[in-house]
Amino acid sequence: TGAAVKLDAGGLAHTIDGAEIRLSAIINDPAELAVVDASSFAGIGLLRTEFLVASPADALNEEKHYAIYREALRWAGAAPVTIRMLDLGGDKTLPGIGGKSSDSFMGLRGVRLLLARPELARVQARTLLRAAAYGNLEVLLPMITVPDEIDAMREIFEEEAADLLRRGMQTRMPEIGMMVEVPAAALTLDGFSNAAFFSFGTNDLAQYLMAASRASSAVAGLYDAAAPVVCRLIAQGVERANAMKKPIGICGEMASDPRHLPALLAAGLRHFSVAPNCIADVRSAIAGLRSDGLPAVERN
Ligand code: PEP
Ligand code: MG
Repeated sequence: TGAAVKLDAGGLAHTIDGAEIRLSAIINDPAELAVVDASSFAGIGLLRTEFLVASPADALNEEKHYAIYREALRWAGAAPVTIRMLDLGGDKTLPGIGGKSSDSFMGLRGVRLLLARPELARVQARTLLRAAAYGNLEVLLPMITVPDEIDAMREIFEEEAADLLRRGMQTRMPEIGMMVEVPAAALTLDGFSNAAFFSFGTNDLAQYLMAASRASSAVAGLYDAAAPVVCRLIAQGVERANAMKKPIGICGEMASDPRHLPALLAAGLRHFSVAPNCIADVRSAIAGLRSDGLPAVERN
């Protein structure tokens, strides 16, 4: 069917029956910004900041973060740039931060580590508050399990904003949203009225649902980021988020794989964050699907 489908430009794609799908970029390395065409994306849906830092000193280097956030905002123009706060622990460690057995996938990871080491959170909050004055910046919190974690982080942002204001610095309070990657959070989205938006992290959601580590090849047969249980939770989450009138999307890797797009469309998702090298395939796959995920042309 490939030849007949009409492809959209820019950060939008349309299904065969006209549903609008927003496509944002996943950026792991700021060097990608120089080579990826911003006009193919509706901004950045996930900027992973743990790869911007190589040492604890880097993580505490406000100016280093600041330069990269400003560059990402420049790249995106008026489009949203969703910057995720450090997701250290689990599979992403720095010498001296994360990597102890207590920082494993089930331990002090993501927002848990940030709240346990508030000096890290404070540096990043200050940088985000400063950069937010220059573009459409949103903050994404990793590994949120309970609503209190968002309140605690917002308090840090408010304290740092007050301090920056006292110093006469220009700031803006960004929207603060959450990764949906812990089953407890995915099952209770209606309790997160304090989140501005939701983003499914299916890479982790799948490992926690299946009790099968994403890092263990021995259980790779059980670890399936697109398992039916994951899709069922996504569908539930979309329904809840729509009822709460809050944006919901996905930044897990499954959205970069055209084979999984039918299930994601069927679950009701309309905002996908995609690895830049997969954008053309994702765009053309969406153009050949209906909004319920079924193919445009029935074959039997
Ligand atoms: C995820 O868990 O799906 C995700 C996008 O985050 P990460 O892979 O960085 O844990
Ligand atoms: Mg994750």
